Amino acid sequence: MIKITLPDGSVREFAPNVTPMDVAKSISEGFARNVISASFNGTTIETATPLTTDGSLILYTWNDDEGKKAFWHSTSHVMAQVLEEMYPGIKLTLGPAIANGFYYDVDFEDQKITEADFKKIEDRVLEISRGKHEFKLRPVTKAEALELYKDNVYKTELITNLEDGTITFCDHDTFTDLCRGGHIPNTGIIKAMKVMSVAGAYWRGDEKNKQLTRVYGTSFPKQKDLTEYLALLEEAKRRDHRKLGKELELFAFSQKVGQGLPLWLPKGAALRDRLEQFLKRAQKKAGYEQVVTPHIGQKELYVTSGHYAKYGADSFQPINTPAEGEEFLLKPMNCPHHCEIYNVRPWSYKDLPKRYAEFGTVYRYEQSGELHGLTRVRGFTQDDAHIFCTPEQLDEEFKKVIDLVLYVFGSLGFENFTAQISLRDQENREKYIGTDENWEKAENAIINAAKDKGLNTVVEYGEAAFYGPKLDFMVKDALGRQWQLGTIQVDYNLPERFDLTYKGSDNELHRPVMIHRAPFGSMERFIAILLEHTAGNFPLWLMPEQAIILSLSEKYEIYAKKVLDLLENHEIRALIDNRNETIGKKIRDAEMQKTPFMLIVGEEEEKNGTISIRRHGQEGKGNISVTIDEFAAIVKEEISKTLKVFTV
Ligand SMILES: [Zn+2]
Ligand SMILES: [Zn+2]
Repeated sequence: MIKITLPDGSVREFAPNVTPMDVAKSISEGFARNVISASFNGTTIETATPLTTDGSLILYTWNDDEGKKAFWHSTSHVMAQVLEEMYPGIKLTLGPAIANGFYYDVDFEDQKITEADFKKIEDRVLEISRGKHEFKLRPVTKAEALELYKDNVYKTELITNLEDGTITFCDHDTFTDLCRGGHIPNTGIIKAMKVMSVAGAYWRGDEKNKQLTRVYGTSFPKQKDLTEYLALLEEAKRRDHRKLGKELELFAFSQKVGQGLPLWLPKGAALRDRLEQFLKRAQKKAGYEQVVTPHIGQKELYVTSGHYAKYGADSFQPINTPAEGEEFLLKPMNCPHHCEIYNVRPWSYKDLPKRYAEFGTVYRYEQSGELHGLTRVRGFTQDDAHIFCTPEQLDEEFKKVIDLVLYVFGSLGFENFTAQISLRDQENREKYIGTDENWEKAENAIINAAKDKGLNTVVEYGEAAFYGPKLDFMVKDALGRQWQLGTIQVDYNLPERFDLTYKGSDNELHRPVMIHRAPFGSMERFIAILLEHTAGNFPLWLMPEQAIILSLSEKYEIYAKKVLDLLENHEIRALIDNRNETIGKKIRDAEMQKTPFMLIVGEEEEKNGTISIRRHGQEGKGNISVTIDEFAAIVKEEISKTLKVFTV
């Protein structure tokens, strides 16, 4: 008998050669119907793979990421089968699962796949799927594998790099592919499939190689899931921050200025400024001090910090000055500069922690193909801060940073998040710098702080940086997409490299611990995510314009101006739309700009000293007539719901 350990810790005994599917059936027939893939002792296997030793088995359903991966990868086999049928002679290469689907890279040679063919491909994939063909993994010798693919240079290259005895083929229906496994039991559960797009892709991602065609697809166990997914994609397109940024006149890009270098337009700059002021106010309360450092630094600085080794070769070229031997680099990180600020004078343990904050702009070279709106840029501003503290203070400091991050999320409407704690690889402790004792202290500080703050956590072993453990906030946006936002990292490396010290109560010199933290991450990326999360309907306190005054005709211009002045006294940001346009047109334009309050003024309002309020997106709700003071109270009340005062 062999002992199979299940994820809940229970151990069951089976005769050797039991399959994961048999184990699933022994749990329940109903459960087994949902099982689509499996892993044994951490390795992906087929649900039909016989188990011959004791070990840990995980059974996956569609609800698991691993299950989806097997589902999508398996569909890529079926799509490859169809492509080969429809375009005889093409050369198949690789077809992995990716986020939300899969692709297959194909050398179509002189044939061409177009969007007009997509429907035909989809129909045929589903037709084959209905045949409930099993995916069967079969070991082959290297010679057999090379023989089958003798006309396919790509597969030949792949096989050549494999070790004889480890090569497997996967068969289903009439189709065979070189594959190491990770499939669903049979094609029958693929109930919906869509070819999403085609794009060019170099073989093995190397632009020196031939350009292949990447065919993207996705598939689902229910038609309804596909329909929902496509609706979500439409909504994501509608909320695309690049589109909204243009419509709301927040930022732009100029080919002349350069790719990946965002230009902040007046409204966007004002938005950034409000976010900065918001964080600065909270940070001041939390004991941070603002510092300012230059955009460039001597190469030596980054050699000392280790950033040169990390960013140097792939980064921007050095800036050489007329003076001989001077070499500067664009700043990839603010930390080295802040270490040198710490080093300006000696510190005693009584002075710590020191918390230096800077909205520091950094530059990193990204390939032009990698650039994307504000989420992947070449110049961006981090809401950076570095805390220098004693090892004993780490616990408390970590909790304080979490408080600050939670305050930021709460004020901006991010409610759905988990804290990912990245710790050392327990088996491989020598690859991390710093003493075991310090690491333990830091890891416990993070775990305790997260627990103390009631965070929903996931622990990832082996995901820590070599210089220290970290906590990342993974935020789900309104469309359920996950983004990594705030990060808090403990660092034992830079204090060492920059020889940072403080005098302890024992009168000896000690190394401080450094914490890097950025609740937003970067202003650019944060605003992009916020735009997509809110679809441009920012919390009221952050909106570029909170209200727009729409006069019914030019006759009420003077009254409109008076309303504007009164609103300014209440610190409400407003504009007047005095254009000689119909009120209908003015409302439509204000709706486009997502201005939260439209204040309509005409004869009635002027006579009574009131305004007629219409809220964004609430067409047909009827306007309400209020005085300016009453309106100010409404605005204040709404702002106070999201924007609280930060307390420590
Ligand atoms: Zn496969
Ligand atoms: Zn840093």
